[in-house]
Amino acid sequence: MYLTVRDATKTYGNFTALDRVSIEIEKGEFVCLLGPSGCGKTTLLRLIAGLTDLDGGTITLEGATLSDLPARKRGFGIVFQSYSLFPNMTVAENIGYGLKIRGVRKDDIAARVQELLALVKLPQVADNLPGQLSGGQQQRIALARAIAVDPRVLLLDEPLSALDAKVRAVLRDEIRQVQRSLGIPTLMVTHDQEEALALADKIICMNHGVVVQAGTPEDLYHRP
Ligand code: ADP
Ligand code: ADP
Repeated sequence: MYLTVRDATKTYGNFTALDRVSIEIEKGEFVCLLGPSGCGKTTLLRLIAGLTDLDGGTITLEGATLSDLPARKRGFGIVFQSYSLFPNMTVAENIGYGLKIRGVRKDDIAARVQELLALVKLPQVADNLPGQLSGGQQQRIALARAIAVDPRVLLLDEPLSALDAKVRAVLRDEIRQVQRSLGIPTLMVTHDQEEALALADKIICMNHGVVVQAGTPEDLYHRP
């Protein structure tokens, strides 16, 4: 197993947001975390990303314990629901940010940014500011920024839910295409069952801080 969460528990005061949650993601797999608002999906994603601390349980990547590593050392790419681009940086600066802080040469960053812009089908917007782009375009750039550093895991937190239905359907397919072409193991949070069915190799259903069911879309919805 590539990424493993075992018995993850998270409490806020005396409220238990996650109660011994276990999930697994294999290499190259696209996994959707599905459940109603407030069931703990984002909390689990943030634990995996290292943005919050576990109160119990373990997270391992290729057998190595992640729990003690800070977020920036986990090598994960993250796309949030919205407004996550740096507003005062151009698109190229946003995408190249992670490479720049890793000391990659300017020319190499520029080349990589162009390659990523082509991959997300926005070759012309390098010098634009995020505010000049539509919501769907901004999420494409957020995806490009997340994958720029060749992340070991891609974490997507409701990346489509702020978009209108038409854009959402197009971008959903594009995200899947990009994920497949790069083979990045991906965990996407969604409350949209149709979205999970369309995208996932595996769906993990949560409710009230626990995993209630997990399996392929066929397992969960098409078996008698
Ligand atoms: P989801 O992503 O499924 O909508 P969340 O993980 O955001 O759910 O939240 C799960 C529960 O934990 C919710 O009841 C939420 O209000 C609560 N919660 C999340 N973050 C905090 C926090 N920092 N402090 C207190 N409660 C929180
Ligand atoms: P989402 O849009 O993913 O459901 P929320 O709007 O629930 O996220 O939460 C946004 C931020 O507020 C997060 O950092 C979360 O941890 C925090 N938060 C959520 N619920 C609570 C709460 N009941 N008390 C304190 N902080 C909370």
